[in-house]
Amino acid sequence: MTLNAENELPLVRHWIDGKPSDTAPERVGEVYNPATGQLKAHVAFASPGEVDRAVSAASEAFSSWRRSSLAQRTKVLFAFRELMAARVDDLAAIVTSEHGKVLADAIGEVSRGLEVAEFACGIPQLLKGGYSEQVSTSIDVHSLRQPLGPVAIISPFNFPAMVPAWFFPIAIACGNTVVLKPSEKDPSASVFIAELWAEAGLPAGVFNVVHGDKVAVDRLLEHPSIKAVSFVGSTPIARYVYENATRAGKRVQALGGAKNHMVVLPDADLDLAADAAVNAGFGSAGERCMAISVVTAVEPAGDELVAKIVERMGRLKVGDGRRGTDMGPLVTRQHRDKVASYLDAGLREGANLVVDGRDVSVDGDADGYWLGPTLFDHVRPEMSLYRDEIFGPVLSVVRVPSYEAAVKLVNENEWGNGTAIFTNDGGAARKFQNEVEVGMIGINVPIPVPVAYYSFGGWKSSLFGDTHAHGTEGVHFFTRGKVVTSRWLDPSHGGINLGFPRND
Ligand code: NAD
Repeated sequence: MTLNAENELPLVRHWIDGKPSDTAPERVGEVYNPATGQLKAHVAFASPGEVDRAVSAASEAFSSWRRSSLAQRTKVLFAFRELMAARVDDLAAIVTSEHGKVLADAIGEVSRGLEVAEFACGIPQLLKGGYSEQVSTSIDVHSLRQPLGPVAIISPFNFPAMVPAWFFPIAIACGNTVVLKPSEKDPSASVFIAELWAEAGLPAGVFNVVHGDKVAVDRLLEHPSIKAVSFVGSTPIARYVYENATRAGKRVQALGGAKNHMVVLPDADLDLAADAAVNAGFGSAGERCMAISVVTAVEPAGDELVAKIVERMGRLKVGDGRRGTDMGPLVTRQHRDKVASYLDAGLREGANLVVDGRDVSVDGDADGYWLGPTLFDHVRPEMSLYRDEIFGPVLSVVRVPSYEAAVKLVNENEWGNGTAIFTNDGGAARKFQNEVEVGMIGINVPIPVPVAYYSFGGWKSSLFGDTHAHGTEGVHFFTRGKVVTSRWLDPSHGGINLGFPRND
C-alpha cells in the first residue's frame, strides 16, 4: 500500500510482474473499516489495458515456470508456507480491518488457507502419473499431467485470504501462473500475500494481482491467454462468469451462493445443536458461504430448540473485532441495510421475529455497520427470508413434521452448498448423507468445510462447472492430461500393415 498524493489516504495498488504497479489509476474504489465506518484507503481499479499488462507478465513467466523442476517449485512453496505461518497474525489483522470479522475468526480463515499451501507442498506426489509396461508386445504406456498456462482467480469479499488460497498454491505448484482479482471491498490481504510470494523466491510474473470491478473481470474472462478461471461469489455472477468464460473456450469452476440447512432430529442433543446453530449462524456475522441460515427443526424438537438458541444469542457480544467480541459488523453500509431490510420483509410475510438484531447494544464505534444476531421462527418456504441468500446474521427456523419433510425441503432448495444433520441415530445420518442433494455434509458438524486434501464444492446453483476446489480435484483442474504410447524400434517391428493397431 502506498500513499495517494491527492488526499493522503493509502492507495492499494495492483501487483504486476513481481512489484506494485506505479501507474496512476484512472478509477479507484473506496475501502472502509466496517467497525468504524471510516474510509481507510482507495483501491486502484484496473482498466482493460492494466489487466492485459498483468496477463502479459503471467504469460511471459509461464514459459520458464512451467519448465521449473518439481524440486524448485516445492522449495518456493515450502518457503511461502513458512512465511505465511509466521505472519498469520499480521494477515488476520488486515482481514479484520477491511472485512470486520473478529480477529479470532480471521486467524481461523488464514489457517485454513495455509492448509492448502501445505497440501500443495506435496505436489511431486500429486503429479505422479501412471506407467504400464508391455501393454502390447514391446509397447509401454505412461500418463502425465501438465500445466494450463496463465489462470485467473476471481474472489469474493467474505474470505479475502482463504478463498484465493483455495486455488493459487495448487495452480502455482502445478506450473501455472496466476492473475488474482480479489474483492474490491477488502483488497489489501491479496497484496500482502503477493509480497510473501516474492519474499519466498517466486519468480516475478508467476503471481499477479489486479484490483477492480466488472471491467477487470470481463477482460480476464475474454482474454485469449487466460486458460482457466476459478471464481467464487454470488450465484448470479458465478453463472455470468461460467457462461462467458466457457464461451471464450476456458476451463471454469464458478462457485456460487448458498442457503445451508441444519436439520435437527428430535433425538439430537438439543444443547449441542443449539450451540452449533448459534456458532454457524452468527460466526462472521453470517457472511460465510457455509453459514447455517435455516434451522430445520423436526417436531417435536422446535419449541425446546428455539428456547435454547435464544438463551445463547443473549450471551453474544457484538462489536469491534479487535476487542475480543464474538461477532463483528457487516462488510459495508449498503450490505448492512440490505440485510436489515429482510427483518421488515420477514415481519410483513408473517414470520415470528423472536430476536431483533436492530436492538443490539454494541461494543464499538457508532458509525460501524452493525446488525445484531436475529432469529425468526415459523418461517415458511415461500417467504423471501427463506428464498433469498441473505448473507448476514439472520437465522430462520423452519419447522417440519418428519425426517422425510426435512430432506424434501433441503433437496427442493435452489442451492446445495453445505448441510448438516444433528442426531444420535446413525441409521438416520447414513440415510441423510445418501439422499441429500448437497455437496458438503456435516453429521453433528455444522460447518463441514472439507480439509485441504479433500475438495470443496456444492451442487445445484452453488457451483457451475464440474470440478470442486482444492484436493485432488484442484490438481486436476489446474492440469491437462497426456498419455504417451511408446516403443523402441528394432528390425522385428518392420513391415506394412494398414489395420487399426491391436494389442497383441
Ligand atoms: P460477488 O458476486 O458480489 O463478487 C465476487 C467477485 O465478482 C468479486 O471479485 C467482484 O468484484 C466480482 N463482481 C461483482 N460484480 C460483478 C459483475 N457484475 N461482473 C463481473 N464481476 C463482478 O460476491 P461477494 O458479495 O463478494 O461475496 C459473497 C458471495 O460469495 C455470497 O453469495 C457467498 O455465498 C458467495 N461465496 C461462495 C462460496 C462458495 O464456496 N460457494 C465461498 C465464499 C463466498
